[in-house]
Amino acid sequence: MDIEQLQNFRPFHDYRWDDVVCMPYKEDGAAPFKAISRQVLFSEAQLGCELRYFEMAAGGFSTLERHEHMHAVMILRGRGLCLVGDQVRPVQAFDLVTIPSWTWHQFRATEGEALGFLCMVNAERDKPQLPTEQELAKLKAHPDIAAFLAA
Ligand code: MN
Repeated sequence: MDIEQLQNFRPFHDYRWDDVVCMPYKEDGAAPFKAISRQVLFSEAQLGCELRYFEMAAGGFSTLERHEHMHAVMILRGRGLCLVGDQVRPVQAFDLVTIPSWTWHQFRATEGEALGFLCMVNAERDKPQLPTEQELAKLKAHPDIAAFLAA
């Protein structure tokens, strides 16, 4: 059996997959985030999309951002909070979350445990935007969002 065939099967062990590298969440340190890792599970030119697994430790969070491309998310591990647009919702394993185009979003592991999720995304995609000070102030005008961002 050659190596390509072997890589068709990559067993799961404790939120890691054989032959999948566990990387930092983002390459550049410009965007704010905390205690989060990234594993790219599927990245094939033929598919046109990628499936990644992100995991944040308790107290960790993803970047608050928006972009033209969408995300299709399935929570795979733990519990936490998720902001989509002006809504903050508790999320837990196997919940589905759709992040539409140009919608502010962030995940936070607020429940004292890790929060892990699968994220499907276009292979070719635009760069995320971070909120300006004015946009952040507008988001924080929602009491739920202010409490979420302070968590
Ligand atoms: Mn995003």
